[in-house]
Amino acid sequence: MNVADSERMAGELAAIGYERLPESAAPDEADMILLVTCCVRETAEDKIYGKLGEYKRLKENNPRLILGITGCMAQKEGEALIKRAPHLDFVLGTNKLAELAPLVQELEEARTVREGLGGEDKEALAEAKKVLRCQRVVDTAEKNDIAEGLAIARQGSLSAWVPIMYGCDNFCAYCIVPYVRGRERSRKPEDVFREIREAVDGGFREVTLLGQNVNSFGKDLPEAERMTFARLLSEADKTPGLLRLRYMTSHPKDMSDEVIRAVAEGEHICEHFHLPVQYGSDRILRAMNRGYTTEAYRELVRRVREAAPFGSLTTDLIVGFPGETEEDFLELLAFIKEIRYDQAYTFIYSRRSGTPAAEMDNQVPEEIKHRRLNQLMELQNRISLEINERLVGTLQEVMVEGPSVKNPSVWTGRARTNKICLWTHGTERPGQLVNVKVTQAQTWLLRGEIP
Ligand code: SF4
Repeated sequence: MNVADSERMAGELAAIGYERLPESAAPDEADMILLVTCCVRETAEDKIYGKLGEYKRLKENNPRLILGITGCMAQKEGEALIKRAPHLDFVLGTNKLAELAPLVQELEEARTVREGLGGEDKEALAEAKKVLRCQRVVDTAEKNDIAEGLAIARQGSLSAWVPIMYGCDNFCAYCIVPYVRGRERSRKPEDVFREIREAVDGGFREVTLLGQNVNSFGKDLPEAERMTFARLLSEADKTPGLLRLRYMTSHPKDMSDEVIRAVAEGEHICEHFHLPVQYGSDRILRAMNRGYTTEAYRELVRRVREAAPFGSLTTDLIVGFPGETEEDFLELLAFIKEIRYDQAYTFIYSRRSGTPAAEMDNQVPEEIKHRRLNQLMELQNRISLEINERLVGTLQEVMVEGPSVKNPSVWTGRARTNKICLWTHGTERPGQLVNVKVTQAQTWLLRGEIP
């Protein structure tokens, strides 16, 4: 979501004459630094304060530098950020992307006026800065508006992110997102379709629809505009020129049969089901406030696999949630053995202040969390490899991305199942769909050849 937001902000800034520096550029080459932040983990916030400290020196050396902050941390902290880092020029709320370009222009003008005042009298300058509104906190209160019609400077040239909704209503016990990003708000279907069409007309071949919980899409829309996520997918699937359609993230409790059917029957909708289970024991799922039981999840997996037997199933898992016992953990391992995910993204529970779980007094010691994570990863890696080994000899439809990082003659792309495939390059072009015959399996990828 932050990448999608960044692309919108880069687009708006490009429209007023800014361009993105390459990643290799040093911070002191920039005229503006905009921190797009995340606050899901407290350590991410600490890193941002570290960065702000670093940039203070840059600001001292170059008073023309504009330093701003946006993203979840800006939304959450608001005014407090200016107090802690007075060298910041602005704090921009996550719902205020449309105000970025006018704000930057206002800052530029104010800066020119300020320079006219001379730089000797620090007190007069500080006063002028306030009067000239050089330092701003732009609406970090929760607002329900979604800015449409923003310019977008997409990164890459094949895959486009298209947000379909913002916020989350689920309040999982460990997660700060609903407090920061607010309640679920869906974009109008016509705005989503227009953005998909524009991306595809601009040469993008793959679109990923984004939301904290895409299965809830449309529920908040007025009746006349209401559309289910399944219909949204099926309609988007018809976009001329689109080769691949993906989505993330699906909350298991809201995954309907209609969505499963839309994916299984869609022409370009990839049969990759990412269903974050988070844990494999009912006791912990309840404590996490996830809203489903292991039995309901099993049943969901059964329906998914029946509808799309060649699809892939991936998940997210958290170990070390407060109160997790050895018995819970063994239940989790048994659950993983039973479900057999293609891939799992595994995390150690990290205490996030402002969430109910952070207040729970039965926190798990760090060394136990690490031991459990390693055990879980070991098991999952073995399962991933076994599943991939069964694919040796099969043909996988792969969308060509380009040369791999390590060897330019070996090219990379993704199968419909989202598995990474590598093969020796022949005449394939980026964006093309090719069939790759799998010859070798690894835990995280498949190697093959073009037959
Ligand atoms: S569904 Fe749960 S984990 Fe996901 S964003 Fe919402 S509250 Fe956070």
